[in-house]
Amino acid sequence: MKAFLKTLLKKSAVPVETIETLYHMIPDSLIYGKPYRDMLAIYRQSDHWDEHELKSYQEQRLRNLIHHAYTHVPYYRELFEGNRLEPRDINTIDDLEKIPFLTSHIVRERWKDLIATNISLFNREMAHTSGTSGPSLYFYFDKTTIPIERAQAMRHLLWLDYRNGDKIAVIKGQPLTNPKKIVKYLHGSRELRVSLVNADDQTLDKIVRELEHFQPQFIRGWPSCLYIISRWMLRNNQSLIPPKFILTSSENLYPYMKEQIEQGFHARVIDGYGQSEFVAYALQCSHGKGYHVQMETGIMELIPYQGEFSEIVGTCLCNSAMPFIRYKTGDLAIRQEEPCPCGRKSSLLAEVVGRTSDLIFRQEGPEARQALSQCTFYNLNEIKETQFVLEDNDTLIVKVVPRKEFSPAVKDLILREVRRCLSTSDLKIIVEEVDEIRPLTGGKRPLIIGRSPSV
Ligand SMILES: [Zn+2]
Repeated sequence: MKAFLKTLLKKSAVPVETIETLYHMIPDSLIYGKPYRDMLAIYRQSDHWDEHELKSYQEQRLRNLIHHAYTHVPYYRELFEGNRLEPRDINTIDDLEKIPFLTSHIVRERWKDLIATNISLFNREMAHTSGTSGPSLYFYFDKTTIPIERAQAMRHLLWLDYRNGDKIAVIKGQPLTNPKKIVKYLHGSRELRVSLVNADDQTLDKIVRELEHFQPQFIRGWPSCLYIISRWMLRNNQSLIPPKFILTSSENLYPYMKEQIEQGFHARVIDGYGQSEFVAYALQCSHGKGYHVQMETGIMELIPYQGEFSEIVGTCLCNSAMPFIRYKTGDLAIRQEEPCPCGRKSSLLAEVVGRTSDLIFRQEGPEARQALSQCTFYNLNEIKETQFVLEDNDTLIVKVVPRKEFSPAVKDLILREVRRCLSTSDLKIIVEEVDEIRPLTGGKRPLIIGRSPSV
């Protein structure tokens, strides 16, 4: 349905923006069709499943996936034969470890061989990563993947008391279809899309006015954007009618950001973890204690990395066009053993830490990254924005955008605080005053920019 509508609209002689407006007047349940409705029906049941039922659902889907990949995907046929494996060898989640990992490097190298030969061009669609940490990775989804992803997003809202007709503001650092505009309303999903590419006072004032007028029940967005808006509102004594919840995703949500966003919007922040490849998702429920792994759509493995940190490896259970089996996400997480008070039985992550490639403190490990994100100077009034850049293996640059003037006392305080957070490190720390923190490709403004492990 979605592809048909898009093709129909594209072939017309109507401007792109009008096409988009017409397209988004159609409700999600119609655009995304049967796969969307079927997945929501499964979620209605699986919310009450125990661990055994969740696992057996995953294993059933895994067996189907393995059989499909072996039969129709040249890369996996070669991989299985090279490792003397047959589909019958992979029956359970524990059997997965027999299959070597898939990496983004392998996806680029073996792109053609990873495409299923029995899925026609008409029955697959191209997707890609945002390209924040390197060049974008392109891949195919089948026709059910995006509808299922949308159903999962709706499930998350339903966990948080979403009611039919609730309005949602979606705030990201990317330009809209018309880059001159900063807001766009989508009738079908009752969404107000907000673009925070520039974070100047005039833009922030306009965005807050739009949100004030729209009165969303939910605000969804990138933590860095919501943090900038909430700080602006707090500084200018502005407030909105509180939404039911704020949903964050796509970037690391650091404690100092969460605190300011909750203060600025007078609503609780609920975080979610996922990636464009859709191999492993985990979402906080209304308790906000741990991330519920979305076991219905993927299998998440936690491979020991260092200390309590594990790397997330995911297998997508709903993409037959280009199956990603045991895909290394490069993201680190900490497992949570204690159950969530909500009673749902899916496995849990206590924390999602970020990318292994974001910042490699060679001696210090991921704990240093955690410590750095908990420095206490971020919310100082004198500071507008901050970013850490690992210049080389020995030097850490602390980029600071001052609000007006940058006194030696503040500079000294920042230096002392970073040294305290990295007390065991011998990195050389330089505090540098800059006019702005430029967003990376894709619009993200990460707190920490590191170097790849190979450097
Ligand atoms: Zn829960």
